[in-house]
Amino acid sequence: MAEAIPHIVWMADSSGAGDYLNSRALELTGLTPEDLIGSGWLHAVHPADRELAESQWAAAVASGQPYLAEYRVQDRNGRYRRMQARALTIRAATGQVIRWIGTWTDVENDRLVGDQSEISRRHASEALALVDAFEASAPLAFGFIDTEFRLVRFNDTLARLNGLTSERDLGRTVADAIPELWPVFEPHYRTVIENGDEVNVVHSIRHDADGGETVWFTTYFPVRVEGELAGIGVIGVDITQTKQSERFRSVVLDTMAEGLYALDASGRITFLNGSAARILGWTEDELRGQLAHQTFHHQHGDGTPYPQEDCSLLTVRTEGRVARSADDSFTHKNGKIIPVAYSASPLRNESGDVDGVVVVFRDTTAETADRVRAQRELNSLSWLGRIRDALDEDRMVLYSQPIIPLTGGPPSEELLLRLVTPFGKVVQPGSFLPIAERYGLVADIDQWVITKAIERAATGRRVEANISAWTIANTDLLPLIERVIRETGADPSLLVFELTETAFMQDLGAGRTFAHGLHELGCGLALDDFGTGYASFTYLKTLPFSYLKIDIEFVRDLANSAANRHVVDAIVSLAKGFGQQTIAEGVEDQDTLDILKEHGVDYAQGFHLGAPAPMS
Ligand code: C2E
Ligand code: CA
Ligand code: CA
Repeated sequence: MAEAIPHIVWMADSSGAGDYLNSRALELTGLTPEDLIGSGWLHAVHPADRELAESQWAAAVASGQPYLAEYRVQDRNGRYRRMQARALTIRAATGQVIRWIGTWTDVENDRLVGDQSEISRRHASEALALVDAFEASAPLAFGFIDTEFRLVRFNDTLARLNGLTSERDLGRTVADAIPELWPVFEPHYRTVIENGDEVNVVHSIRHDADGGETVWFTTYFPVRVEGELAGIGVIGVDITQTKQSERFRSVVLDTMAEGLYALDASGRITFLNGSAARILGWTEDELRGQLAHQTFHHQHGDGTPYPQEDCSLLTVRTEGRVARSADDSFTHKNGKIIPVAYSASPLRNESGDVDGVVVVFRDTTAETADRVRAQRELNSLSWLGRIRDALDEDRMVLYSQPIIPLTGGPPSEELLLRLVTPFGKVVQPGSFLPIAERYGLVADIDQWVITKAIERAATGRRVEANISAWTIANTDLLPLIERVIRETGADPSLLVFELTETAFMQDLGAGRTFAHGLHELGCGLALDDFGTGYASFTYLKTLPFSYLKIDIEFVRDLANSAANRHVVDAIVSLAKGFGQQTIAEGVEDQDTLDILKEHGVDYAQGFHLGAPAPMS
């Protein structure tokens, strides 16, 4: 069970000296049980944390109180990761501490992603719930056998079970020490060595002393030192009582937030715990006897069929190997596909044949969402750096799109921002402007755009430039515009600034000041994306706009949409009423252009009339 938990699980004797580490530890940190012996684990702890880690652990061992600490541990790539260490005591009936069982939870990522810590904590507490259950319901048996099957170490429980004594049997082979049990254990040892994987077996042990029988859930697992097989570890959990009373099930299995189900040799469900039922949406009664693959594992995450032959869970049965996946999916009773991570172990009978599978899984929806969120955040952050670099390295450029007069006004152009990557790729503003807005870089961008637009107007051209909704509250902006106009000698009446309704919705007072300021300077003002916001009439009535830009939403499909023609008509007459002109955006074909002309729209802009192109 310690192997089935997706966390580092370790154990130590009553003096605090480590003697067991699950294989997860090796996967994550490269530590082997050998490293743990005595206080060897301290070598993996960051030098700066070592003294504290050691003294905290010594204090816990001295007091027998639960242990909770956090320190950096070196992972197998040599990087330090922050781990949360927790441990509880396992006590004899007399209350005396026999052993310590503990977990290490990687909390490094918590620092990067706040929400993740909740998940890690939850996993840690699940692991500890299991530990509690161990403590409450079962003493543990431990042993370590080298590759020649010599007994290297074992605890009292294992000794008692198999009739071993330390003085006589340490160093002897299992065959010598307990010849009558050798045939029972040998096949499992050989399977571990041949497959390099763990084997789970349920042993029933008859006790001559009282004639009773106990049942042990036993895991045999390979122990490697620097990649070389050093021997075989054994952990046994007494499930006699719990088996009889079903406490094993209710206490251990139902306190797990992870789902657990068991299959027989034909892949039919024999058991599932409460979490599995909850995650999958079926009751145990509905699922018992069903073929698991066909019932909830028959489709991939994208809904395509998942044939049984491809199923990695099948190999657990056919090849007797452990299978793990961080990225699979099960199907809920209601048809919804749930992303899951699982580990599946073969169950062997006493003769060593695989006659079942135990699968422990968890719903990774939240983790996936967290990962997506974290990834998005990281993307934003890397974009932030790229935007800064682009500004510093002069890699922002303006494209120009023609604005064509339909009712006899002067032609103009809209300046549209692009970012050029160091490799020369041109990036649309939709990819980086929202990030620039969120992280306060848009003010720099707008200042740059405004300056370029005014310089362009100084060459005698009419131009329209976009100003972000976030910038209009920036009181430096009007003085900047005024200064650049003065310095370049540009004719302010050639300049039109485009603002969206959103800008005014955010801060009407600041928007009004800015709009009137521009108007007083002699610049034009266009209300961009008109018709997509709210309460436009208020702005139309009180703000000095010269143009309404009809959003592409209403221009698209104009030939086929009577509704859109109505909207265009309404906007045109509204604008006329206020003495404003209209500009239709997104004109993609001649039919649309003809209709716009019929409706008296003043200007048109769109791919049909000219796509945005580098400013010449
Ligand atoms: P916008 O101001 O509404 O700009 C019109 C968008 O429609 C532009 O996208 C333009 O390339 C695109 N477009 C033009 N004709 C057609 C057409 O016929 N069909 C279709 N489907 N699209 C057409 P772009 O360049 O990706 O800009 C997106 C938005 O980014 C702009 O929307 C504007 O809100 C913002 N933006 C662009 N340049 C700047 C800038 O310099 N400063 C600020 N603050 N925002 C800018
Ligand atoms: Ca615009
Ligand atoms: Ca627009």
